[in-house]
Amino acid sequence: MSREKENSEKLKRFSQDLGASLFGIADVTRIRKEFYLDKGLASKFDRGISMGKRLIVPVIDEIKDRPTQLYFHHYRQLNFFLDRAALLLSSHIQELGHQALPIPASQVIDWEKHRGHLCHRTVGALAGLGWRGRSNLLVSPELGARFRLVTVLTDMPLAADMPLEDDCGKCRACLKPCPAQAIKEQREDFDYRACYDKLQEFKRSGIVGQHVCGVCVKACPGFSKI
Ligand code: SF4
Ligand code: SF4
Repeated sequence: MSREKENSEKLKRFSQDLGASLFGIADVTRIRKEFYLDKGLASKFDRGISMGKRLIVPVIDEIKDRPTQLYFHHYRQLNFFLDRAALLLSSHIQELGHQALPIPASQVIDWEKHRGHLCHRTVGALAGLGWRGRSNLLVSPELGARFRLVTVLTDMPLAADMPLEDDCGKCRACLKPCPAQAIKEQREDFDYRACYDKLQEFKRSGIVGQHVCGVCVKACPGFSKI
């Protein structure tokens, strides 16, 4: 086994011991210029480690046509979990003599474009965890869209995974339930504005304190369950 492959396997075991449900490694050399990071800093990192944590099913079950307070709490707890997992993995990589940068699971730094330091879904897709669905979420064959993601950038020599070639196929399960009618036949037609306005409405109504919804997450439980 190559040194890169061996390193990848070790980090995968480490992340599984932390409780991560999904793990993959992306070659980020083609997308790192899009990161909202200092160019000199971003250019140090060739690999993006993508970790996912599965959502708890009964929390999702409570959602009907809007987010619930239980879901909002759960959403934040998953972000805490993922941020901590990213911190511990980064610290482990540093102890092994390499550099690692944990990217916050949910931190908006450009409010106008509603963007974080990077797009975790894009890194997750490159890392082979799933594909970008009609809902604009990352869809895993096993978990659907019912997970959250975090990324660790690193210069550690790691074997990169290959992106999946799957897509939503004939599934349309999330189109009708979307309260903003933002999800369309083609992902390119996804209506960002309508989705954002609906999230604003949920936030203004006081149901949740952040831009969360959960309806399209619920509608996408994985191909074996649709
Ligand atoms: S987050 Fe809510 S409003 Fe936005 S696409 Fe998903 S279901 Fe529709
Ligand atoms: S519910 Fe179906 S159509 Fe919507 S993102 Fe998931 S797999 Fe794709």
